[in-house]
Amino acid sequence: MNVDKTIFEYSSPGRVGVTLPDLDVPEVGVDTLVGPENLRDDLPLPELSQTDVIRHFTRLSLANYSVDRGFYPLGSCTMKYNPKINEEVASLSGFANMHPFQDDSLAQGTLAAMYATQEYIKGITGFDAVTLQPAAGAQGEYTALMVFKRHHEKIGQGHRRIVIVPDSSHGTNPATATRCGYGIVKIESGQDGRVDLSALADALNDEVAAVMLTNPNTLGLFESEIAEICELVHKAGALIYCDGANMNAVMGWYRPADSGFDAMHLNLHKTFSTPHGGGGPGSGPVAVKDFLAPYLPVPNVALKDKLYYLDYDRPDSIGRVHGCYGNTAIALRACAYILTMGAKGLKEVSDNAVLNANYLLSRLNDAYEVPFDCRCMHEFVASASRQKALGVKALDIAKRLIDFGYHPPTIYFPLIVAEALMIEPTETESIETLDEFIEAMLTIARESQTNPDVLQSAPHNTPVRRLDEATAARKPVLRYVDD
Ligand SMILES: *Cc1c(COP(=O)(O)O)cnc(C)c1O
Repeated sequence: MNVDKTIFEYSSPGRVGVTLPDLDVPEVGVDTLVGPENLRDDLPLPELSQTDVIRHFTRLSLANYSVDRGFYPLGSCTMKYNPKINEEVASLSGFANMHPFQDDSLAQGTLAAMYATQEYIKGITGFDAVTLQPAAGAQGEYTALMVFKRHHEKIGQGHRRIVIVPDSSHGTNPATATRCGYGIVKIESGQDGRVDLSALADALNDEVAAVMLTNPNTLGLFESEIAEICELVHKAGALIYCDGANMNAVMGWYRPADSGFDAMHLNLHKTFSTPHGGGGPGSGPVAVKDFLAPYLPVPNVALKDKLYYLDYDRPDSIGRVHGCYGNTAIALRACAYILTMGAKGLKEVSDNAVLNANYLLSRLNDAYEVPFDCRCMHEFVASASRQKALGVKALDIAKRLIDFGYHPPTIYFPLIVAEALMIEPTETESIETLDEFIEAMLTIARESQTNPDVLQSAPHNTPVRRLDEATAARKPVLRYVDD
Protein backbone atom coordinates (compact mmCIF):
# COMPACT_ATOMS: atom_id res chain seq x y z
CA MET A 1 0.00 0.00 0.00
CA ASN A 2 1.47 3.31 -1.06
CA VAL A 3 0.20 6.14 1.10
CA ASP A 4 3.37 8.14 1.35
CA LYS A 5 2.92 10.37 -1.72
CA THR A 6 0.89 13.55 -1.58
CA ILE A 7 -1.65 14.27 -4.26
CA PHE A 8 0.70 16.92 -5.68
CA GLU A 9 3.28 14.28 -6.48
CA TYR A 10 0.79 12.45 -8.68
CA SER A 11 0.20 15.62 -10.70
CA SER A 12 1.00 15.64 -14.40
CA PRO A 13 0.68 18.87 -16.46
CA GLY A 14 -2.44 18.99 -18.59
CA ARG A 15 -4.17 16.00 -17.03
CA VAL A 16 -7.85 16.64 -16.24
CA GLY A 17 -10.46 14.88 -14.14
CA VAL A 18 -13.60 15.62 -16.14
CA THR A 19 -14.23 16.27 -19.81
CA LEU A 20 -17.37 18.23 -20.51
CA PRO A 21 -19.06 18.48 -23.91
CA ASP A 22 -18.55 21.69 -25.91
CA LEU A 23 -20.80 24.56 -24.85
CA ASP A 24 -23.89 25.18 -26.95
CA VAL A 25 -24.46 28.58 -25.30
CA PRO A 26 -22.21 31.66 -25.18
CA GLU A 27 -19.44 31.24 -22.60
CA VAL A 28 -19.55 33.48 -19.51
CA GLY A 29 -16.17 33.45 -17.83
CA VAL A 30 -15.71 33.60 -14.08
CA ASP A 31 -13.91 36.92 -14.61
CA THR A 32 -17.20 38.54 -15.62
CA LEU A 33 -18.69 37.44 -12.32
CA VAL A 34 -15.89 38.31 -9.89
CA GLY A 35 -13.87 40.80 -11.94
CA PRO A 36 -10.64 39.89 -13.76
CA GLU A 37 -8.52 41.58 -11.05
CA ASN A 38 -9.71 38.92 -8.60
CA LEU A 39 -8.69 35.96 -10.74
CA ARG A 40 -5.51 34.04 -10.01
CA ASP A 41 -3.91 31.71 -12.47
CA ASP A 42 -0.80 30.94 -10.46
CA LEU A 43 -2.28 28.47 -7.95
CA PRO A 44 -0.13 25.36 -8.02
CA LEU A 45 -3.08 22.95 -7.99
CA PRO A 46 -2.40 19.32 -8.85
CA GLU A 47 -3.52 18.15 -12.29
CA LEU A 48 -4.97 14.68 -12.11
CA SER A 49 -7.27 12.21 -13.79
CA GLN A 50 -10.42 11.12 -11.96
CA THR A 51 -8.86 7.69 -11.46
CA ASP A 52 -5.84 9.27 -9.73
CA VAL A 53 -8.08 11.24 -7.39
CA ILE A 54 -10.37 8.33 -6.50
CA ARG A 55 -7.47 5.93 -5.93
CA HIS A 56 -5.55 8.46 -3.86
CA PHE A 57 -8.43 9.17 -1.47
CA THR A 58 -9.53 5.54 -1.31
CA ARG A 59 -5.97 4.55 -0.36
CA LEU A 60 -5.92 7.23 2.32
CA SER A 61 -9.27 6.06 3.71
CA LEU A 62 -7.92 2.50 3.91
CA ALA A 63 -5.00 3.69 5.99
CA ASN A 64 -7.53 4.49 8.71
CA TYR A 65 -8.72 1.79 11.05
CA SER A 66 -12.42 1.79 11.88
CA VAL A 67 -15.12 -0.35 13.47
CA ASP A 68 -16.31 -1.17 9.98
CA ARG A 69 -12.91 -2.72 9.19
CA GLY A 70 -12.28 -4.78 12.28
CA PHE A 71 -12.35 -5.45 16.01
CA TYR A 72 -11.76 -2.32 18.07
CA PRO A 73 -11.54 -3.23 21.78
CA LEU A 74 -10.60 0.29 22.90
CA GLY A 75 -11.56 0.24 26.57
CA SER A 76 -13.82 3.06 27.81
CA CYS A 77 -14.67 4.09 24.24
CA THR A 78 -17.36 1.48 23.43
CA MET A 79 -16.41 1.06 19.79
CA LYS A 80 -19.41 -1.04 18.85
CA TYR A 81 -20.83 -1.47 15.39
CA ASN A 82 -23.11 1.40 14.34
CA PRO A 83 -26.11 0.02 12.41
CA LYS A 84 -26.39 1.67 8.99
CA ILE A 85 -30.14 2.12 9.37
CA ASN A 86 -29.35 4.90 11.86
CA GLU A 87 -27.43 6.71 9.13
CA GLU A 88 -30.37 6.40 6.76
CA VAL A 89 -32.76 7.83 9.30
CA ALA A 90 -30.50 10.78 10.11
CA SER A 91 -30.07 11.55 6.41
CA LEU A 92 -33.79 11.54 5.54
CA SER A 93 -34.22 14.83 3.74
CA GLY A 94 -36.89 16.10 6.17
CA PHE A 95 -34.28 15.94 8.93
CA ALA A 96 -31.09 16.64 7.03
CA ASN A 97 -32.26 19.61 4.98
CA MET A 98 -34.04 21.48 7.73
CA HIS A 99 -32.71 24.92 8.57
CA PRO A 100 -31.72 25.17 12.23
CA PHE A 101 -33.70 28.40 12.59
CA GLN A 102 -36.84 27.05 10.96
CA ASP A 103 -39.97 28.02 12.84
CA ASP A 104 -41.06 25.42 15.41
CA SER A 105 -44.38 24.95 13.61
CA LEU A 106 -42.47 23.74 10.51
CA ALA A 107 -40.06 21.53 12.44
CA GLN A 108 -42.53 19.27 14.20
CA GLY A 109 -40.96 16.03 12.95
CA THR A 110 -37.46 16.82 14.19
CA LEU A 111 -38.77 18.25 17.45
CA ALA A 112 -40.94 15.15 17.97
CA ALA A 113 -37.88 12.93 17.50
CA MET A 114 -35.86 15.07 19.93
CA TYR A 115 -38.67 14.97 22.46
CA ALA A 116 -38.99 11.21 22.12
CA THR A 117 -35.23 10.82 22.62
CA GLN A 118 -35.46 12.87 25.83
CA GLU A 119 -38.33 10.66 27.02
CA TYR A 120 -36.43 7.44 26.24
CA ILE A 121 -33.42 8.73 28.15
CA LYS A 122 -35.66 9.47 31.12
CA GLY A 123 -36.96 5.91 30.94
CA ILE A 124 -33.50 4.37 30.68
CA THR A 125 -31.90 6.44 33.45
CA GLY A 126 -34.86 7.03 35.79
CA PHE A 127 -34.33 10.80 35.84
CA ASP A 128 -37.02 13.48 35.48
CA ALA A 129 -35.62 15.92 32.91
CA VAL A 130 -33.13 15.77 30.04
CA THR A 131 -31.20 18.16 27.82
CA LEU A 132 -29.76 16.97 24.52
CA GLN A 133 -27.61 20.06 24.02
CA PRO A 134 -24.13 18.96 25.18
CA ALA A 135 -21.96 17.82 22.27
CA ALA A 136 -19.81 15.32 24.18
CA GLY A 137 -19.54 13.42 27.41
CA ALA A 138 -17.12 15.98 28.77
CA GLN A 139 -19.49 18.81 27.86
CA GLY A 140 -22.31 16.92 29.57
CA GLU A 141 -20.20 16.81 32.74
CA TYR A 142 -19.57 20.52 32.39
CA THR A 143 -23.28 21.24 31.91
CA ALA A 144 -24.25 19.19 34.96
CA LEU A 145 -21.64 20.77 37.22
CA MET A 146 -22.76 24.24 36.14
CA VAL A 147 -26.31 23.12 37.02
CA PHE A 148 -25.06 21.97 40.44
CA LYS A 149 -23.28 25.26 40.94
CA ARG A 150 -26.37 27.28 40.06
CA HIS A 151 -28.44 25.17 42.44
CA HIS A 152 -25.98 25.70 45.29
CA GLU A 153 -25.95 29.44 44.67
CA LYS A 154 -29.75 29.49 44.71
CA ILE A 155 -29.99 27.73 48.08
CA GLY A 156 -27.25 29.75 49.75
CA GLN A 157 -24.59 27.04 49.48
CA GLY A 158 -22.39 28.87 46.98
CA HIS A 159 -19.39 28.49 49.31
CA ARG A 160 -19.07 24.82 48.35
CA ARG A 161 -15.93 24.83 46.18
CA ILE A 162 -14.69 21.23 46.20
CA VAL A 163 -15.44 18.28 43.92
CA ILE A 164 -14.39 14.78 44.98
CA VAL A 165 -13.25 12.29 42.33
CA PRO A 166 -11.99 8.75 42.87
CA ASP A 167 -8.52 7.93 41.54
CA SER A 168 -10.10 5.64 38.96
CA SER A 169 -12.13 8.44 37.37
CA HIS A 170 -11.95 9.34 33.70
CA GLY A 171 -9.61 12.29 33.11
CA THR A 172 -12.53 14.40 31.94
CA ASN A 173 -14.03 14.40 35.48
CA PRO A 174 -11.31 16.39 37.27
CA ALA A 175 -10.82 18.48 34.12
CA THR A 176 -14.51 19.39 34.11
CA ALA A 177 -14.55 20.28 37.79
CA THR A 178 -11.49 22.50 37.33
CA ARG A 179 -13.06 24.15 34.29
CA CYS A 180 -16.12 24.96 36.43
CA GLY A 181 -13.90 26.63 39.03
CA TYR A 182 -13.89 23.87 41.64
CA GLY A 183 -10.95 22.52 43.59
CA ILE A 184 -10.36 18.77 43.33
CA VAL A 185 -9.97 16.21 46.09
CA LYS A 186 -8.95 12.77 44.90
CA ILE A 187 -9.81 9.67 46.92
CA GLU A 188 -8.04 6.35 46.56
CA SER A 189 -9.93 3.23 45.55
CA GLY A 190 -10.26 0.37 48.00
CA GLN A 191 -8.57 -3.04 47.67
CA ASP A 192 -11.46 -4.24 45.54
CA GLY A 193 -11.11 -1.43 42.99
CA ARG A 194 -14.28 0.26 44.19
CA VAL A 195 -14.93 3.43 46.21
CA ASP A 196 -13.56 3.14 49.73
CA LEU A 197 -16.48 4.31 51.90
CA SER A 198 -14.31 5.47 54.78
CA ALA A 199 -12.00 7.44 52.46
CA LEU A 200 -15.10 9.07 51.00
CA ALA A 201 -16.54 9.84 54.45
CA ASP A 202 -13.22 11.42 55.48
CA ALA A 203 -13.16 13.64 52.41
CA LEU A 204 -16.74 14.90 52.79
CA ASN A 205 -17.43 18.18 54.57
CA ASP A 206 -19.46 21.33 54.03
CA GLU A 207 -16.98 22.66 51.46
CA VAL A 208 -17.82 19.81 49.11
CA ALA A 209 -20.18 20.63 46.27
CA ALA A 210 -20.24 17.30 44.51
CA VAL A 211 -18.83 13.83 44.05
CA MET A 212 -18.32 12.58 40.49
CA LEU A 213 -18.56 8.85 40.11
CA THR A 214 -18.45 6.54 37.13
CA ASN A 215 -20.64 3.49 37.49
CA PRO A 216 -19.66 0.92 36.35
CA ASN A 217 -16.27 2.42 37.09
CA THR A 218 -13.27 2.60 34.78
CA LEU A 219 -12.03 -0.77 36.05
CA GLY A 220 -15.23 -2.24 34.63
CA LEU A 221 -16.58 -2.89 38.14
CA PHE A 222 -20.03 -2.06 39.45
CA GLU A 223 -20.01 0.04 42.61
CA SER A 224 -21.87 -2.43 44.79
CA GLU A 225 -22.31 0.07 47.65
CA ILE A 226 -23.72 2.76 45.42
CA ALA A 227 -26.83 3.41 47.55
CA GLU A 228 -24.69 3.89 50.69
CA ILE A 229 -22.32 6.18 48.76
CA CYS A 230 -25.19 8.40 47.56
CA GLU A 231 -26.62 8.57 51.07
CA LEU A 232 -23.27 9.56 52.56
CA VAL A 233 -22.83 12.33 49.99
CA HIS A 234 -26.32 13.72 50.54
CA LYS A 235 -25.90 13.68 54.30
CA ALA A 236 -22.92 16.00 53.82
CA GLY A 237 -25.14 18.36 51.81
CA ALA A 238 -23.33 17.62 48.55
CA LEU A 239 -24.65 16.38 45.22
CA ILE A 240 -23.59 13.23 43.43
CA TYR A 241 -22.97 12.98 39.70
CA CYS A 242 -22.94 9.80 37.65
CA ASP A 243 -20.56 9.67 34.71
CA GLY A 244 -22.80 7.42 32.64
CA ALA A 245 -20.45 6.81 29.72
CA ASN A 246 -20.50 3.13 30.67
CA MET A 247 -24.28 2.77 30.63
CA ASN A 248 -23.96 0.08 27.95
CA ALA A 249 -23.18 -2.37 30.77
CA VAL A 250 -26.37 -1.85 32.73
CA MET A 251 -29.16 -0.63 30.43
CA GLY A 252 -32.46 -2.20 31.36
CA TRP A 253 -31.00 -3.57 34.60
CA TYR A 254 -30.11 -0.51 36.60
CA ARG A 255 -31.33 3.09 36.60
CA PRO A 256 -28.81 5.47 38.23
CA ALA A 257 -31.58 7.78 39.51
CA ASP A 258 -32.95 4.93 41.64
CA SER A 259 -29.72 4.52 43.61
CA GLY A 260 -29.67 8.20 44.54
CA PHE A 261 -27.65 10.04 41.89
CA ASP A 262 -28.73 13.64 41.28
CA ALA A 263 -27.64 13.89 37.65
CA MET A 264 -25.77 12.00 34.96
CA HIS A 265 -24.70 12.18 31.35
CA LEU A 266 -24.90 9.54 28.68
CA ASN A 267 -22.59 9.19 25.72
CA LEU A 268 -24.92 8.69 22.76
CA HIS A 269 -21.77 8.17 20.69
CA LYS A 270 -20.83 5.15 22.78
CA THR A 271 -23.78 3.33 24.35
CA PHE A 272 -26.32 4.37 21.71
CA SER A 273 -24.34 3.30 18.72
CA THR A 274 -23.67 6.52 16.92
CA PRO A 275 -20.30 6.90 15.21
CA HIS A 276 -17.41 8.53 16.99
CA GLY A 277 -13.71 8.91 16.74
CA GLY A 278 -11.38 11.73 15.92
CA GLY A 279 -13.15 13.98 18.37
CA GLY A 280 -16.68 14.17 17.10
CA PRO A 281 -19.41 14.91 16.42
CA GLY A 282 -20.83 13.48 19.60
CA SER A 283 -23.69 13.95 21.99
CA GLY A 284 -23.63 13.85 25.77
CA PRO A 285 -27.19 14.44 27.02
CA VAL A 286 -27.63 15.27 30.70
CA ALA A 287 -30.43 13.85 32.83
CA VAL A 288 -31.35 15.34 36.21
CA LYS A 289 -33.76 15.00 39.10
CA ASP A 290 -36.75 17.39 39.20
CA PHE A 291 -35.19 19.90 41.60
CA LEU A 292 -32.37 20.56 39.10
CA ALA A 293 -34.55 20.74 35.98
CA PRO A 294 -35.05 24.56 36.04
CA TYR A 295 -31.29 25.06 35.60
CA LEU A 296 -30.87 22.94 32.47
CA PRO A 297 -29.70 24.75 29.31
CA VAL A 298 -32.03 26.92 27.28
CA PRO A 299 -33.85 26.08 25.03
CA ASN A 300 -35.31 22.66 25.72
CA VAL A 301 -37.73 20.69 23.58
CA ALA A 302 -41.17 20.79 25.17
CA LEU A 303 -44.68 19.64 24.31
CA LYS A 304 -47.87 21.62 24.81
CA ASP A 305 -51.31 21.12 23.27
CA LYS A 306 -49.91 18.44 20.95
CA LEU A 307 -47.32 20.88 19.57
CA TYR A 308 -43.60 20.54 20.10
CA TYR A 309 -41.67 23.73 20.67
CA LEU A 310 -38.31 25.07 21.81
CA ASP A 311 -38.85 26.38 25.30
CA TYR A 312 -36.89 29.60 25.88
CA ASP A 313 -38.86 30.56 28.97
CA ARG A 314 -36.37 29.18 31.46
CA PRO A 315 -35.35 32.09 33.73
CA ASP A 316 -33.14 29.98 36.03
CA SER A 317 -31.30 28.20 33.22
CA ILE A 318 -27.50 28.20 33.14
CA GLY A 319 -27.86 29.37 29.50
CA ARG A 320 -26.83 27.73 26.27
CA VAL A 321 -24.06 25.17 25.98
CA HIS A 322 -24.42 24.57 22.22
CA GLY A 323 -25.68 26.44 19.18
CA CYS A 324 -29.21 25.66 18.03
CA TYR A 325 -30.21 22.39 19.60
CA GLY A 326 -27.03 20.37 19.95
CA ASN A 327 -25.91 17.71 17.49
CA THR A 328 -29.41 16.86 16.33
CA ALA A 329 -28.26 14.27 13.80
CA ILE A 330 -26.53 12.28 16.54
CA ALA A 331 -29.66 12.32 18.69
CA LEU A 332 -31.64 11.12 15.64
CA ARG A 333 -29.30 8.16 15.19
CA ALA A 334 -29.64 7.32 18.88
CA CYS A 335 -33.42 7.62 18.65
CA ALA A 336 -33.45 5.22 15.68
CA TYR A 337 -31.20 2.83 17.59
CA ILE A 338 -33.38 2.87 20.71
CA LEU A 339 -36.50 2.30 18.61
CA THR A 340 -34.99 -0.61 16.66
CA MET A 341 -33.72 -2.30 19.83
CA GLY A 342 -36.73 -1.68 22.06
CA ALA A 343 -36.62 -2.12 25.83
CA LYS A 344 -35.90 -5.84 25.58
CA GLY A 345 -33.19 -5.35 22.98
CA LEU A 346 -31.38 -2.72 25.04
CA LYS A 347 -31.34 -5.07 28.00
CA GLU A 348 -29.85 -7.77 25.79
CA VAL A 349 -27.20 -5.30 24.63
CA SER A 350 -26.03 -5.00 28.23
CA ASP A 351 -26.20 -8.77 28.73
CA ASN A 352 -24.00 -9.40 25.72
CA ALA A 353 -21.58 -6.56 26.45
CA VAL A 354 -21.01 -8.05 29.91
CA LEU A 355 -20.89 -11.63 28.63
CA ASN A 356 -18.32 -10.80 25.93
CA ALA A 357 -16.08 -8.96 28.39
CA ASN A 358 -16.23 -11.79 30.92
CA TYR A 359 -15.47 -14.35 28.20
CA LEU A 360 -12.31 -12.45 27.20
CA LEU A 361 -11.36 -11.96 30.84
CA SER A 362 -11.70 -15.64 31.68
CA ARG A 363 -9.65 -16.70 28.62
CA LEU A 364 -6.87 -14.14 29.15
CA ASN A 365 -6.35 -14.05 32.89
CA ASP A 366 -3.87 -16.95 32.86
CA ALA A 367 -1.54 -15.26 30.40
CA TYR A 368 -1.99 -11.73 31.74
CA GLU A 369 -2.12 -10.32 35.24
CA VAL A 370 -5.60 -8.99 36.11
CA PRO A 371 -5.27 -6.92 39.30
CA PHE A 372 -8.98 -6.88 40.15
CA ASP A 373 -9.81 -10.36 38.95
CA CYS A 374 -13.50 -10.81 39.59
CA ARG A 375 -16.55 -10.76 37.36
CA CYS A 376 -16.39 -7.58 35.32
CA MET A 377 -19.09 -5.55 33.62
CA HIS A 378 -18.60 -4.42 29.99
CA GLU A 379 -14.80 -4.15 30.17
CA PHE A 380 -11.84 -5.19 32.27
CA VAL A 381 -8.36 -3.95 32.95
CA ALA A 382 -5.44 -6.36 32.57
CA SER A 383 -1.83 -5.48 33.27
CA ALA A 384 1.29 -6.21 31.28
CA SER A 385 3.34 -6.23 34.48
CA ARG A 386 4.37 -9.88 33.98
CA GLN A 387 5.51 -9.11 30.42
CA LYS A 388 7.21 -5.92 31.62
CA ALA A 389 9.54 -8.08 33.71
CA LEU A 390 10.66 -9.58 30.38
CA GLY A 391 11.19 -6.16 28.83
CA VAL A 392 7.84 -5.96 27.05
CA LYS A 393 5.62 -2.98 27.88
CA ALA A 394 1.88 -2.46 27.43
CA LEU A 395 2.81 -0.16 24.54
CA ASP A 396 4.70 -3.00 22.78
CA ILE A 397 1.69 -5.31 23.13
CA ALA A 398 -0.59 -2.62 21.74
CA LYS A 399 1.69 -2.04 18.74
CA ARG A 400 2.01 -5.78 18.08
CA LEU A 401 -1.79 -6.15 18.00
CA ILE A 402 -1.77 -3.84 14.97
CA ASP A 403 0.25 -6.51 13.12
CA PHE A 404 -2.55 -8.97 13.84
CA GLY A 405 -5.09 -6.59 12.32
CA TYR A 406 -6.63 -5.22 15.53
CA HIS A 407 -7.06 -1.79 16.95
CA PRO A 408 -5.15 -1.87 20.26
CA PRO A 409 -6.97 -1.62 23.58
CA THR A 410 -6.69 1.50 25.71
CA ILE A 411 -3.31 1.47 27.47
CA TYR A 412 -1.93 3.13 30.62
CA PHE A 413 -5.46 3.98 31.77
CA PRO A 414 -6.84 3.87 34.41
CA LEU A 415 -3.73 5.21 36.09
CA ILE A 416 -4.14 3.00 39.15
CA VAL A 417 -3.15 -0.14 37.19
CA ALA A 418 0.50 -0.41 36.15
CA GLU A 419 0.98 -1.22 32.44
CA ALA A 420 -2.80 -1.16 32.03
CA LEU A 421 -4.50 -2.83 29.08
CA MET A 422 -8.15 -1.78 29.16
CA ILE A 423 -10.19 -4.12 27.01
CA GLU A 424 -13.80 -3.54 25.95
CA PRO A 425 -15.12 -5.96 23.32
CA THR A 426 -18.71 -4.57 23.15
CA GLU A 427 -21.80 -6.64 22.45
CA THR A 428 -21.64 -6.48 18.67
CA GLU A 429 -18.73 -8.94 18.33
CA SER A 430 -19.21 -12.62 17.59
CA ILE A 431 -17.56 -15.43 19.51
CA GLU A 432 -15.40 -16.16 16.43
CA THR A 433 -14.00 -12.62 16.49
CA LEU A 434 -13.37 -12.86 20.23
CA ASP A 435 -11.63 -16.23 19.82
CA GLU A 436 -9.34 -14.86 17.10
CA PHE A 437 -8.44 -11.90 19.30
CA ILE A 438 -7.75 -14.22 22.23
CA GLU A 439 -5.40 -16.26 20.00
CA ALA A 440 -3.53 -13.08 19.08
CA MET A 441 -3.23 -12.04 22.73
CA LEU A 442 -1.98 -15.51 23.74
CA THR A 443 0.52 -15.52 20.86
CA ILE A 444 1.78 -12.13 22.06
CA ALA A 445 2.12 -13.42 25.63
CA ARG A 446 4.23 -16.34 24.26
CA GLU A 447 6.28 -13.98 22.09
CA SER A 448 7.11 -11.89 25.16
CA GLN A 449 8.96 -14.97 26.45
CA THR A 450 10.44 -16.30 23.22
CA ASN A 451 10.93 -13.28 21.00
CA PRO A 452 10.49 -9.98 22.84
CA ASP A 453 12.24 -8.14 20.03
CA VAL A 454 9.35 -8.71 17.63
CA LEU A 455 7.10 -6.92 20.13
CA GLN A 456 9.50 -4.11 20.92
CA SER A 457 9.88 -3.30 17.21
CA ALA A 458 6.21 -3.69 16.24
CA PRO A 459 4.26 -2.79 14.18
CA HIS A 460 5.86 -4.42 11.15
CA ASN A 461 3.32 -4.17 8.34
CA THR A 462 1.95 -0.63 8.57
CA PRO A 463 2.69 2.27 6.20
CA VAL A 464 4.85 3.85 8.89
CA ARG A 465 6.73 2.01 11.62
CA ARG A 466 6.58 2.92 15.29
CA LEU A 467 6.90 6.66 15.67
CA ASP A 468 8.64 8.56 18.41
CA GLU A 469 5.43 9.98 19.84
CA ALA A 470 7.08 12.15 22.49
CA THR A 471 9.35 13.88 19.96
CA ALA A 472 6.48 14.17 17.51
CA ALA A 473 4.47 16.02 20.18
CA ARG A 474 7.33 18.19 21.47
CA LYS A 475 9.09 19.01 18.19
CA PRO A 476 6.44 18.60 15.54
CA VAL A 477 7.50 18.85 11.90
CA LEU A 478 4.35 20.21 10.36
CA ARG A 479 5.63 20.87 6.85
CA TYR A 480 5.70 18.02 4.34
CA VAL A 481 9.22 17.44 3.13
CA ASP A 482 9.59 15.83 -0.26
CA ASP A 483 12.85 13.90 -0.28
C1 LIG B 1 -15.67 8.66 26.99
C2 LIG B 1 -15.83 8.97 28.41
C3 LIG B 1 -15.98 10.30 28.83
C4 LIG B 1 -15.87 11.51 27.90
O1 LIG B 1 -16.73 11.50 26.82
P1 LIG B 1 -16.38 12.40 25.55
O2 LIG B 1 -17.57 12.31 24.68
O3 LIG B 1 -15.15 11.83 24.93
O4 LIG B 1 -16.14 13.80 26.03
C5 LIG B 1 -16.18 10.53 30.18
N1 LIG B 1 -16.19 9.52 31.07
C6 LIG B 1 -16.04 8.24 30.70
C7 LIG B 1 -16.07 7.15 31.75
C8 LIG B 1 -15.84 7.90 29.36
O5 LIG B 1 -15.67 6.64 29.01
